[in-house]
Amino acid sequence: MKQADFTIVQRPAYITFTCPHCGQDQRMDWDEVTEPEYWGDEWGIVNCPECGEEIELGEYDMG
Ligand SMILES: [Zn+2]
Repeated sequence: MKQADFTIVQRPAYITFTCPHCGQDQRMDWDEVTEPEYWGDEWGIVNCPECGEEIELGEYDMG
């Protein structure tokens, strides 16, 4: 029997950030984030779940 090593790939679940408007820590489901084709591209605008203000997503960090 031939064997192959394999990689378990995790799907991102959600992102977290601190809202620059209300200063609260927020968590947003991955489905609500518009993922760019290339992660170095811009991630666009999201609305804060807490205060509803628009936030431009900046640099990301892998949690
Ligand atoms: Zn906010």
